[in-house]
Amino acid sequence: MWLRRIMTSEQLYCFAMIQVLLVFLLASFRLRATDQNSKALPLLQGAIAAELLSWLFYFWPAPGPSLVLSLSFSALNMSLLTAFCFKRSGQTVPWLWIVPVGLALAVSYSYFSYHQQQNVSLHLMTLFAFLLIGPCFWCFRYLKPNPTLSDLMMAAVFAAWLLICLLRSFMLLIAPEWLLSGLLISQSFWPAVSAGYCIFALTGYMEETQQKFKNEALHDPLTGLLNRRGLVNAIQGCLAYLQRQQHSAALFMIDLDHFKQINDKIGHEGGDEVLIAVAEVLQKQLRQSDVLARYGGEEFIVFLPQTDSDSAQLAAERLLLAVRHLQLPQLGGQNGLSISVGIAVFNADFDFDCQLRRADHALYQAKARGRDRIEFATDTL
Ligand code: GH3
Ligand code: MG
Ligand code: MG
Repeated sequence: MWLRRIMTSEQLYCFAMIQVLLVFLLASFRLRATDQNSKALPLLQGAIAAELLSWLFYFWPAPGPSLVLSLSFSALNMSLLTAFCFKRSGQTVPWLWIVPVGLALAVSYSYFSYHQQQNVSLHLMTLFAFLLIGPCFWCFRYLKPNPTLSDLMMAAVFAAWLLICLLRSFMLLIAPEWLLSGLLISQSFWPAVSAGYCIFALTGYMEETQQKFKNEALHDPLTGLLNRRGLVNAIQGCLAYLQRQQHSAALFMIDLDHFKQINDKIGHEGGDEVLIAVAEVLQKQLRQSDVLARYGGEEFIVFLPQTDSDSAQLAAERLLLAVRHLQLPQLGGQNGLSISVGIAVFNADFDFDCQLRRADHALYQAKARGRDRIEFATDTL
C-alpha cells in the first residue's frame, strides 16, 4: 500500500488517531446548537484539540522539539480534561491546582522522555494521572448532579485510564526489561480510552437533552405540575398494583369557578399567577403519595391511592377551604376564588379514562348545583 511506503506503522497509528479525534472534534461542534447547558463544552473541545496536536507532533518525522511539543500537548489535554470534568459537574474549576500540576507534568515528562529515561517518565505519568485524571473520575462518579448512564461510563473510562497507568508502572517496577513490549501494550489501549471519553462526553450531553425533552413532554410549563400524559405515566404502575391488592382509589377532577371573570378583572397574566398559586396551595394540602396534575386550562386532576369515600370527602373539603382562603394581593382580601370538585372513588374498575369520565360528570353536577362544592360520581358511565 502506498501509505505504508511513506509512513512507518507507528506513524500510521498516529495518523489514525488524528483522524478519529478530528471526527470527535467536529461532532462536538454540533452540540452547541441544541444544548443550552454547554458552558463546559469549549474545555472539552480544547482537550480533544490538544490531544489531536499531541498525536500530530508525535507523528512528525523530526524527533527532538516535536517530541517535547507532543508531550506538552498531552499534558495540556489532561489539564483541560480535568477542568472540563469540574465544570461539567457544576463545580468551580480549581485552576490553582490544575495549572501548576499541568505545567509540572509537561516539563518533567518532556525532560525525561527527551533524555531517553522512559521508565522515569512513565512513572511520572502514573503519578500525574492520579493528580489530574483521578479528580475526573471523582467528578463524574460522585459530584455530578443527576448522573446519566453516559456519565457513569465516563467515570469508568477514567478509572480504566488510571488502571492502565498503574499496571504499566507496576510491571516496570517488577520487570524493567518489560519496557518495550509494555509500551506497545499500553499504546494499544489509548485509542479506546480517547474514543471512550470523547464518545461518552458527547452522549452525556445528548442524554441530558433527551431527558429535558422527556421532562417537558410530561410537565405543564406554567405550574411545573405533571400534565395529563405525565399523570397517566406516573400512576400506571400504581393502578395495576391497587387493582391486584383490591384497594380503592379516588380521582378528583377540579375546575376553578368563574375563572373567566378573574381573567377579565386582572388580565391573562394575573390569571396565570392565580393558577400557579392555586397549584401550590393544592399541592400543599395533599399527601406525598397523592398525585396532582394540571389537566388543561384551569382544570386540575388529583389521584389519591388507597382512599375510600370518607377520606376522599375530607381531602376534597381541605382543598375547597384552602382555595377559598388563599391570600393573593392581586385579588384583595376577599379573593372570590373557589373550586368545584367531581370525585370518582373506585375499587373494581381501574380503567383510568372511564374513572376520569365519571369524575368529570360529577364535576359537571357540582357546577350545576351552584359551584364551590363537592359531588361524588354515583354510577358507572
Ligand atoms: P365555570 O368553570 O365556573 O363554569 O366558569 P369559568 O369562567 O371558569 O368557565 P370555563 O371553565 O369555561 O373557562 C375557563 C377559562 O379559563 C377560559 C380561559 O380564558 C381561562 N383559561 C384557560 N387556560 C388559562 C391559562 O392558562 N391562563 C389563564 N390566565 N386563563 C386560562
Ligand atoms: Mg372554570
Ligand atoms: Mg374549565
